[in-house]
Amino acid sequence: MMEDIVVRNLPVDKENLAFEGWNIEYEKSHILKSMCKNGKDKTCEREDPCELCTYSYALELPHLPDMVFHKNRLTLLHQNGALLDFNPMEALRFVDNGKQPLQVACAQEWKESRPNCHMEEKFKPFDWTFTTTYQGTMNEKIRTEPTTQQLNKFKLMQREKILFYHDLTLYEDELHDHGISSCSVKIRVMPSGFYILLRHFLRVDDVLIKMHDTRFHYEIENDYIFKEYTKREATYDELKSVPPALYTIPNEIENFLPIKMKESSKLFFK
Ligand SMILES: [Zn+2]
Repeated sequence: MMEDIVVRNLPVDKENLAFEGWNIEYEKSHILKSMCKNGKDKTCEREDPCELCTYSYALELPHLPDMVFHKNRLTLLHQNGALLDFNPMEALRFVDNGKQPLQVACAQEWKESRPNCHMEEKFKPFDWTFTTTYQGTMNEKIRTEPTTQQLNKFKLMQREKILFYHDLTLYEDELHDHGISSCSVKIRVMPSGFYILLRHFLRVDDVLIKMHDTRFHYEIENDYIFKEYTKREATYDELKSVPPALYTIPNEIENFLPIKMKESSKLFFK
């Protein structure tokens, strides 16, 4: 009985905004427990999986990131039915679970000095850096067309009232203290429209820094959302002249990472 009351009174971090025909909603909660409900190293039956096992079965990754914010979600639903959604399960589906891994700089020494340690898992064939190419989830009501148009930075830099702002982490992993891999999504709604930045940031200490950004900019006078996807990457060697203090600040280091790939499109939703 007591427990029921406690559960009911837990604050739910959730909010929505009706904006120009869109219902914009976010939800935030605790991280996914790292243990199955049946105990350590146990798994559930496929028919009745706990939250952890739901993830394990769906993704078939040998390991999940340290922190999976399985309840964090940003959803934009238009009155016409168009849906744009950001969630950790989909983000992790775009992690390569079959390719040769990239190795940490000290991996060889680790392997020699501690043959039985958990670093061994880094030699299994899956991308333990949790690099994702996730660009958000859309339903069939959205029609995508490539464009040569550029992001309207001028408009985004103008001072405007902020109607709604949220920053959600989808997952994060510290790569056994060898860096960081994170995936997050931010939204800002202003009277002129909304702007979303979905970012995967990867830093493997002494090896490289990678950033996969998907930007969405909707201007209320348009019947489409502008979308830009970029991949940036540089090795530590290429970053020699950059102060290392900036390596931990994605917004700063971004300016020093050359663009390896860029794709722009218009997402029509009407
Ligand atoms: Zn389980």
